[in-house]
Amino acid sequence: SQRKVLVAGGAGYIGSHTAKLLRSKNIEPIVFDNLVTGHRSSVRWGPFVHGDILDTSTLTRALLQYKPDAVVHFAASAYVGESVEDPAKYYRNNVSGTLALLDACRHAAIDKIIFSSSCATYGTPESLPITETTPQAPINPYGRTKLIVEQILKDYAAAYQLKYVALRYFNACGADPDGELGEWHEPETHLIPRALLAANGTIPHLAIFGDDYETEDGTCVRDYIHVTDLARAHVLALEHLVNGGGNLSVNLGTGCGSSINEIVSAIGRIIKRDVPVEMHPRRAGDPPALYTDPTFARETLGFSPEYSDVETIIKTAAPFFGLESRT
Ligand code: UDP
Repeated sequence: SQRKVLVAGGAGYIGSHTAKLLRSKNIEPIVFDNLVTGHRSSVRWGPFVHGDILDTSTLTRALLQYKPDAVVHFAASAYVGESVEDPAKYYRNNVSGTLALLDACRHAAIDKIIFSSSCATYGTPESLPITETTPQAPINPYGRTKLIVEQILKDYAAAYQLKYVALRYFNACGADPDGELGEWHEPETHLIPRALLAANGTIPHLAIFGDDYETEDGTCVRDYIHVTDLARAHVLALEHLVNGGGNLSVNLGTGCGSSINEIVSAIGRIIKRDVPVEMHPRRAGDPPALYTDPTFARETLGFSPEYSDVETIIKTAAPFFGLESRT
């Protein structure tokens, strides 16, 4: 019979791109989402169940009804700054929410899960590139909730034969190359969308948070990975588990870092418009540089990025901000 996957948080940015890709591989995505940050209009590739992962009865009912082969779990709160201001929300949604989801899975005898983790679990690493054996030492509540869930998955795997892949995303960005989905957060805090909002005049300028870091040009360096590449990694992780592969925790990035200044000038070059910028002090909790060693993802999942060059990232993101690329 047709393969099915329950996509918790499938109305959000990375979840909706993953649902679209699953459908294109003939896997039915059943989206389960509370629509607090997700968008109903982003659910277009399979059934939708409106519910919260903390609502065990609704979730268990959905699992028993659809009997998915696995759960892909994106449902979480994901603003670092907010996690410092309101940690209770983060521990409740991300930790209690995942516990509720795992217990619903046990009840419904679903034993495979793919979990959205984060490079935020590494905090400020002592050396670069970051590998999967780099010590995990998060520096904010958001990163701690992701690390705690990884530890829960490990314990559940040992005790209950749960099979999992934890995917530690670096900086998700870009949009569906077909133009059917975009990056759409409220409030929008991420660098590339903020820069595009500055370019189209929605905001007066992009605030650059610090140009006195110990990096080549003084601005922070990040590993930007296209959302469609992230989506593909989930499909590969699903194949890995379905084929009997073992539990994995894998970094997802390109292996190359780009500075804020490099991103801003690439945007200017590609859309042929200036991005007005203003220098601001450092944002609390930002490590100077983060980028992965992509080897383990390639060896274990056969994953290598296809859309994550800066040009493709900007060209796919720009149309959602009414901007055309002109190269
Ligand atoms: N950043 C910035 N201005 C903004 C948004 C982000 O200078 O309006 C910087 C931020 O300080 C960090 C980098 O851009 O160094 C990437 O930030 P983002 O919030 O996109 O992702 P994060 O790395 O925090 O997950």
